[in-house]
Amino acid sequence: FVLIACAGCGQKSTSLQDFSGEEFIMNTLVRIQVICEDEEKGRKALKQAFDVFRKIDHLTNRFPEGELATSSPGDVLNINGSAGLKPVKVSVDTVRIIQRSQYYARLTGGAFDITIGPIMDNWGFGKGIQYVPADEEISRALSLVDYRKVEADPGKGTVFLPEPGMSLDLGGVAKGYAMDEAVKALREAGMKHALINAGGCVYALGTRPDGEPWRVGIQDPRSNGDIVAILSLKDSAAVTSGDYQRYFEQEGVRYHHIIDPSTGKQARDLIQTTVVAESATDADILSTALFVLGPRRGMSFVEDLPGTGAVLIGPDKLVSVTAGLIDQLTFTGNGGYQIVG
Ligand code: AMP
Ligand code: MG
Repeated sequence: FVLIACAGCGQKSTSLQDFSGEEFIMNTLVRIQVICEDEEKGRKALKQAFDVFRKIDHLTNRFPEGELATSSPGDVLNINGSAGLKPVKVSVDTVRIIQRSQYYARLTGGAFDITIGPIMDNWGFGKGIQYVPADEEISRALSLVDYRKVEADPGKGTVFLPEPGMSLDLGGVAKGYAMDEAVKALREAGMKHALINAGGCVYALGTRPDGEPWRVGIQDPRSNGDIVAILSLKDSAAVTSGDYQRYFEQEGVRYHHIIDPSTGKQARDLIQTTVVAESATDADILSTALFVLGPRRGMSFVEDLPGTGAVLIGPDKLVSVTAGLIDQLTFTGNGGYQIVG
């Protein structure tokens, strides 16, 4: 886990029970913990939340495996398969994910760009062999990357990629959206205390049963299992992006999965970003976007966003924190990280 949830803390009342489950969905371990009095309600809520993750995985997965591979193709597969041919009718969820992504693509001047698919394929993230592509390959793929070309029509519920070879990759946002929908399901089922962790994407629903905020660790990006800081969370999401989540090494250089759409190459000014916001969709998009923007542009961008906090860690182990988040953070002092500003 990137964000390490502090499970089981603070349980007080004996009538409350802890229902937890974990499943491998969206290429990650999704762990859901709900705490409630009624066993039947708790188990049902847990199942509904997992169902949401599976549903969004089906809609958004570009490289379905296992059960997903044998089911009917999801929206993203259909959209990509019809690039340059025709608009595709999609679900309301898919339109929403794309619209929110496009909103932040515009705000960040394209640092976040869901048409990154051809570049991800170049580097071999997803399917295929991972290698460092030649500059010509990168520029060919880059000519297909431009969020402004995506034609999404919410009225008709259709999405169209106008050029053959274009492809959507929702890897930077889908988990966050699934998280928000799962949280919605838990709330509708009457759950008051829950913690979900989907590989670096965490949501703290309500408080712990003792009324205290949930506590979630921010992983040391260079030491698996160690924690740089502890976040106090209540009814909010914390999403982490890192250069250690998916990568390969060639000649001693780390090539990771977060790409600067302006170069087609790895964004290198940060090694980890964590974004805290009420919406996990927003936090997910922004953790990826800030990673690309880097510490200077990233901090000035996020400081202007209401209700959004961030912790950015650079390769020099310098940590930038937005002013509004300081009170929610406790640094462990481990790993030689230094807070700036
Ligand atoms: P995350 O772990 O949320 O930061 O998402 C990283 C994933 O987002 C990658 O594995 C790609 O699928 C996708 N991605 C990479 N670079 C970008 C980018 N600049 N804009 C949008 N999505 C990206
Ligand atoms: Mg993201």
